[in-house]
Amino acid sequence: MGKPGAGKGTQATRLLDYYQLKHISTGNVYRDEISKRSLIGIEAEKYIKKGELVPDDLTNDIVREILCRKDYPNGFMLDGYPRTETQAIALNQMLASLGLALTACINVDVSDDILLNRMAGRRVCSTCNATYHIHFHPSVIPGVCDVCGSALIQRADDLEESVLNRLRIYNNKTRPLLNFYQKQGLLQVVDGTRATDEVFADITKRLGEPNHGNDQIEPRN
Ligand code: ADP
Ligand code: AMP
Repeated sequence: MGKPGAGKGTQATRLLDYYQLKHISTGNVYRDEISKRSLIGIEAEKYIKKGELVPDDLTNDIVREILCRKDYPNGFMLDGYPRTETQAIALNQMLASLGLALTACINVDVSDDILLNRMAGRRVCSTCNATYHIHFHPSVIPGVCDVCGSALIQRADDLEESVLNRLRIYNNKTRPLLNFYQKQGLLQVVDGTRATDEVFADITKRLGEPNHGNDQIEPRN
């Protein structure tokens, strides 16, 4: 969890690799659907361009479909979902019906002035979704993705008007979820104003060593 631009995607990329998790980013799903010009993408684009949330039913259906695949032997990381109380309740129902539970809810906490700077400088790969920043995390060749060589672009929703709308919506609809997860004893608040490596070290310290599916009990001699 975290405001737009807090560093969720940046940390998710590293945590996925470290813990060998499946990444479930509703924002990435929508951006992929938009680039394919699918029906879902065309519908979602209307909201995303303005910095509004895509309707809950559509978003919940997407996550349900992904979770039902059960192709995550070491678990999964939700990034940018849930963002409303309706989504959080739907997620709890999905997890209960699949016999799963969340390990933690990590909130990457950053003040608004830092976020505006981060989003203004954010560049993303048009093909693989890798994220860069023109000052804090530049690509080796400007404008070219280090991972796949495709062009880097600025997200349409990172323009100022849309950013301010996203922050307003975060405060109204998403921030209350912190309380929802605190009551469940799952909330971990991490100071996201520090360098990427420090934030990563803090999160992994809280979550512990990866166990890559080796949680079987060793037989005793
Ligand atoms: P979110 O997924 O929360 O919207 P991102 O991970 O895309 O945020 O990060 C937003 C921007 O800030 C990106 O350009 C990213 O490279 C940069 N960024 C992320 N974490 C840090 C950090 N700890 N310090 C400086 N810049 C960061
Ligand atoms: P993100 O990449 O997570 O910042 O998401 C980009 C945009 O996609 C958001 O501003 C929303 O318009 C839309 N979106 C992503 N996730 C959700 C969600 N869980 N609920 C509603 N809309 C979402």
